[in-house]
Amino acid sequence: MIEALKNLSFRTLFDAIADAAIVIESTGHVVLMNPAAQQLFGYTENELMGLAVEMLITPRYRKQYRYYQTLFLDKPAKLPMGTGNEIMVCNRSGQEMLLDMSFSPIEVQQLYVLITFTVSRQRLKVEDTLRVREECLRLAKQAAGFGIFDYDFKRGVVYWDKQMREFWGGYPGEIISYEGFVAMIHPADRAGRQAALDYAMNPVSHGAYKAEYRVIDPLDKAERWIAVVGRVYFEGDHANRLVSVARDVTEQKILQKELRVPSNEAEKIFEQQAAARTASAIAHELNQPLTAISAYSEVVLHTLRNDSFDVERLKNALQGCVEQTQRAGRGLHELIAFLQKSELATEPLNLNDVIREALDVVVSDGSGKFRARLKLEQDLPAVQCNRTQVHKVLVNLFRNAAEAMQTTDSPILTIITQMQVLNDKNRALVSVQDNGPGLDQAMAKRIFEPFFTTKQTGIGMGLAISRALIESNGGELWVESDEGSGASFHFTLPFAP
Ligand code: ADP
Repeated sequence: MIEALKNLSFRTLFDAIADAAIVIESTGHVVLMNPAAQQLFGYTENELMGLAVEMLITPRYRKQYRYYQTLFLDKPAKLPMGTGNEIMVCNRSGQEMLLDMSFSPIEVQQLYVLITFTVSRQRLKVEDTLRVREECLRLAKQAAGFGIFDYDFKRGVVYWDKQMREFWGGYPGEIISYEGFVAMIHPADRAGRQAALDYAMNPVSHGAYKAEYRVIDPLDKAERWIAVVGRVYFEGDHANRLVSVARDVTEQKILQKELRVPSNEAEKIFEQQAAARTASAIAHELNQPLTAISAYSEVVLHTLRNDSFDVERLKNALQGCVEQTQRAGRGLHELIAFLQKSELATEPLNLNDVIREALDVVVSDGSGKFRARLKLEQDLPAVQCNRTQVHKVLVNLFRNAAEAMQTTDSPILTIITQMQVLNDKNRALVSVQDNGPGLDQAMAKRIFEPFFTTKQTGIGMGLAISRALIESNGGELWVESDEGSGASFHFTLPFAP
């Protein structure tokens, strides 16, 4: 041992300890207190001498301290720091501190206890975390350009940070009267802001506050849009403060305004498209009868030019014109009713009859030569539909099939009707199968789109309209196709009740 330290007194050593240290008797009364402890607690040694050490502990933690002390005195053994002996103490000025304690027994004639205190590691950790969080918050606030304000309802003042003051045109003071705060808000936006505040001040809203308003710079009168989110705090049922963050959203507002112009244009385009679609649907409806009328008129002209007054021929041709004109008129009428989504007139129909009628139209209008193979279920119950619309769909499907089969050596159109049970519900199923070139997957996906056509004189509306018509009659229309083995169109319709 170093000679100089041999006669070192306990007192010298005790006072040299950097941590706060107190020696107590086994009764818990203070007998010694080192300078570090005097500094930490703010008492002189004399003031504490003979008093219970317990009085340094925050009153609500005294029970916990007594527990530690009894535990130690029962079995006096060293209890170092960091073994969970954390306790809240209180200094002379009432400031609370969370400290770690160590207990060491000193046996000299009787038992004394050396207690040392240091700032709790947990508290340091918490403080550290808080510091990091605060820093993160500050950085985030800075990066996002947030301003913060706290409106004290009772005092009628607003405390605000630098960023917030900048939003208000660089106001100098850290506190502003509530009237002064509101005075700079655009008069047109005050009522909306007040309504948002009234809502937040109602306890049922749980204090949620959200508002957007303009602030007018007092100097250059420039307007700035501010978006605010915050929370109102209550004392019982009384709202007493509003704490909020605010953001300058002026640029966003300008952008939104600019975007609104093209969106008007987009609306116009959409309207134009809708108009084009309607026009195409009408053209699709008129195409066939007009072609027929034109052909009949040719016959009439030809007959008249030749001076060979074949009255019968003329009569037939003119009759054809009349029929086609009526057909066009009917078609247009139905189409307009459909486009206007007016009430659909349905009736119980014998589907097989409608199929035969539609087939006659296609066979006689010369859409293409083919052999029809009908596999119609004889006892099929009546379907509840609009006759003209189902007829129209069938004509469309038959015509498309006939046109597709024009390159086929022996074109056969197979039409099948049957009963289908789906989800426990009976419905009629119609299948229209051809042996034309069929469709590849990509095409099959697109054929129901309006304007999709592969024909030179096609409009591409037939299938789009057909699907819409079947759906408005309570059914579905779809296609099955393998390229090279023909196309099969199927649709369902509900039976009459
Ligand atoms: P359009 O007949 O005016 O072209 P549609 O909507 O009736 O309009 O048909 C769209 C396209 O679907 C047709 O151009 C054709 O390419 C394809 N299509 C329709 N039916 C058949 C079919 N039975 N076989 C092969 N392709 C078909």
